[in-house]
Amino acid sequence: MTPQSEDFSAWYNELVAKAGLVDRGPVKGTMVIRPYGYRMWELLQAELDGRIKETGHENAYFPMLIPESYLKREAEHVEGFAPELAVVTHAGGKELDEPLVVRPTSETVIGEMMSKWISSHRDLPLLLNQWANVVRWELRPRTFLRTTEFLWQEGHTAHAGEDDAMRETMLALDLYDDVATNLAALPVVPGEKTPGERFAGAARTFTIEGMMRDGRALQAGTSHYMGTNFARAFDIQYTGEEGRLEYCHTTSWGMTTRMIGAVVMTHGDDKGLVLPPRLAPHQVVIVPVGRDAAEVMPAAVELAASLRTAGVRVHVDDRTHLSPGFKFNDWEMRGVPVRLELGPRDLAAGTAVMARRLGDHPKEPVPLDRLPGMITGVLDDFQAYLLRRATEFRDANTATVDDWDSFASAVSTGWARALHCGVPACEDEIKAETKATPRCVPLNAPEETGECVRCHRPSAYGKRVIFARAY
Ligand code: AMP
Repeated sequence: MTPQSEDFSAWYNELVAKAGLVDRGPVKGTMVIRPYGYRMWELLQAELDGRIKETGHENAYFPMLIPESYLKREAEHVEGFAPELAVVTHAGGKELDEPLVVRPTSETVIGEMMSKWISSHRDLPLLLNQWANVVRWELRPRTFLRTTEFLWQEGHTAHAGEDDAMRETMLALDLYDDVATNLAALPVVPGEKTPGERFAGAARTFTIEGMMRDGRALQAGTSHYMGTNFARAFDIQYTGEEGRLEYCHTTSWGMTTRMIGAVVMTHGDDKGLVLPPRLAPHQVVIVPVGRDAAEVMPAAVELAASLRTAGVRVHVDDRTHLSPGFKFNDWEMRGVPVRLELGPRDLAAGTAVMARRLGDHPKEPVPLDRLPGMITGVLDDFQAYLLRRATEFRDANTATVDDWDSFASAVSTGWARALHCGVPACEDEIKAETKATPRCVPLNAPEETGECVRCHRPSAYGKRVIFARAY
């Protein structure tokens, strides 16, 4: 495998294939998610779905084909998405009267239904979520991070007023922050997008941004406050308590299979994947060793059963045609947090040898009867270690800068925190010269004003903006 330091992109592309996460689809930009990768998605999905339901949202399903005219009803929305649309013009052997768009996102079709389902303030808030695939014709596709078809959830909600809709927008952002930080061990920065980076049709867009191990930024989830833009386009109105007809305020928010790519790029190293235990298909792998591995197989199976009872996802590597050494490397490459080696001599001593995928722990013998009681703690420590390591990496590669040379140098390897004028032409110049774009105005940054790092005009936003090259 190409080392990260030599060519990070090549390392990533080779690893996601070699580790069995994906294969290329027959159409450019599409991917086949293989069982090992799909299991990671399922684990993330189950956790996120639980949180979405706990906060009062209900799942529903809307059609994948949307009349083209729907997309055209919100001017900015269609302008933003037009270049990325896949359009069905023929079906059933005939040209269709009206072309159908394969959903790139579902504000339009859900907006149409909301207008039917909402009539009074008593129908609000309406809190919906959909798990689905969407299609965006991406010109620069990259496995998981930017595919033409991807899996996601999209939350869509309608509210009586701005305050309630903004609370919802921030609640969704908090869910994403929690999932990224506590499941994927990505120390993301929550913030607001600058106007040039807003979702097409949104009044405000919020994001969580993570730093990959090459210093580039990745937008890992977004939450949008739409104001009344979509409500006006789709006539989503309600009768208020005083009997007046009002437009709803709506939101939408999405997190996608991009998260799998984020995990690979945040934690992986030259040996391969490093998976956070909470998203690892196998948290523990048991590898029988010794000349006659069959001898220890019953004990390995028994140990696996006791770990499973303790709530751990455990796999016994019972492949007989491969050497233990090969298996060790294979599971390291596939990112399994903890490996247990079990040989006849270990068994006689009543122990197994425990090896962690990362960290300063040497391999150590552990009594078999103690393993079920201690393994969750070992996995929790590993999860915390990954988050700590990624946080330290992010902080070490983020610079607060006030002059152009420091800015250019910071964004060549990591992130820059800088004051900016907010003028689109100035953003464009920065991008042309350094490839860096404003990633977000962090929510928790202290207030600060001064002059723009690039053009010296007065700064906007009242805070420093994070700039970085991004995926
Ligand atoms: P959006 O609906 O544009 O706000 O997108 C929601 C989230 O989807 C973004 O924050 C990205 O993390 C992710 N995303 C956008 N485009 C793609 C893509 N082509 N493939 C995978 N994930 C994507």
